[in-house]
Amino acid sequence: MAAKVQRILVTGGAGFLGSHLCERLVAEGHDVICLDNFFTSQKSNIAHLLKFPNFELIRHDITIPIWLEVDQIYNLACPAAPGHYQYNPIKTIKTSVMGAINVLGMAKRCRAKVLQASTSEVYGDPEVHPQPESYRGAVNPIGPRACYDEGKRAAETLFMDYHRMNGVNIRIVRIFNTYGPRMHPFDGRVVSNFIRQALSGEDITIYGDGSQTRSFCYCDDLIEGMVRMMNGPDDFPGPVNLGNPDEFTIRELAELVIELTGSRSKIRYAPRPEDDPVRRRPDISLAQQRLNWKPAVPLREGLRRTIEWFRSINLADYRPPTPNY
Ligand code: NAD
Ligand code: UDP
Repeated sequence: MAAKVQRILVTGGAGFLGSHLCERLVAEGHDVICLDNFFTSQKSNIAHLLKFPNFELIRHDITIPIWLEVDQIYNLACPAAPGHYQYNPIKTIKTSVMGAINVLGMAKRCRAKVLQASTSEVYGDPEVHPQPESYRGAVNPIGPRACYDEGKRAAETLFMDYHRMNGVNIRIVRIFNTYGPRMHPFDGRVVSNFIRQALSGEDITIYGDGSQTRSFCYCDDLIEGMVRMMNGPDDFPGPVNLGNPDEFTIRELAELVIELTGSRSKIRYAPRPEDDPVRRRPDISLAQQRLNWKPAVPLREGLRRTIEWFRSINLADYRPPTPNY
């Protein structure tokens, strides 16, 4: 990785992925600014970094402009779990769109490089499987997931337009389901729900019949891909898929979590949410070719590490998102 010390802004830096990214950048010696409004996260995610002189925390909402002097920006600020992003859908789309405009304006002024954390949700409920970057997606623009999907699609558009019109040095990564320590235990995502339920002996809630699929990437693999993309060649702005191509049904995931936790929880079936994608798996050929990247941590091992972390936390320390207008 680049030996030179960079001034790096991570928006959403106190979140699940952001905290792992900040940790890595601080360890590499960079001058790291973590910006977060703590809508879906809490200080405990980055408390261990506060003692380092090359780490700085700013409590700020990215929908409001901010002037900073930086060399690189990772734009992660956005609620990511369906339960979180549907909590205040108008705020979600504002965060994606106004957040993108604000970081792009900053990148333009500072001549900084800026990376957008986009998502596999830009493919919607895909008719093409696995999903390559060239697939344009099947998103319902008026459904309950649209605030997130369309917000992220609009952000990609803004990134490409600032790149073409103003020469801003951009990167776009499309992240597929990623899991690991520091996921919010009440975010409603499948991995956090299943582990929390298994450890407390509650029923494991499968939505639908559990035949829908996802491909789960461990957080360390994802962060490696993101950093490689940021530091990769300028003639490769993306978008590039980052995710683990090993595909599992949700039922298989439930059974694996029960096995690894040794839980006595039973499976309970609940209605499938509207517009829930039927299957999802990244085609990562482009990331393999251009970044020489592929995930290294298998689901079983990643789940083992995540379960260990869930065992170590006190659930009373976590709260649902606050109303945030
Ligand atoms: P997360 O909810 O843990 O992190 C998001 C962070 O952004 C939180 O700390 C939150 O407080 C902050 N935030 C939200 N709105 C903000 C605002 N207006 N101003 C400032 N900060 C704000 O979620 P995550 O899983 O770490 O996701 C990080 C990024 O990666 C998101 O942009 C998400 O869309 C993207 N992503 C994640 C996944 C995944 O599977 N984890 C998949 C696809 C895309
Ligand atoms: N899911 C489930 N039980 C849960 C939470 C989620 O069966 O307690 C399912 C959900 O319907 C979806 C998949 O697991 O099919 C992944 O959901 P998640 O919210 O983690 O992410 P998504 O990929 O849908 O954004």
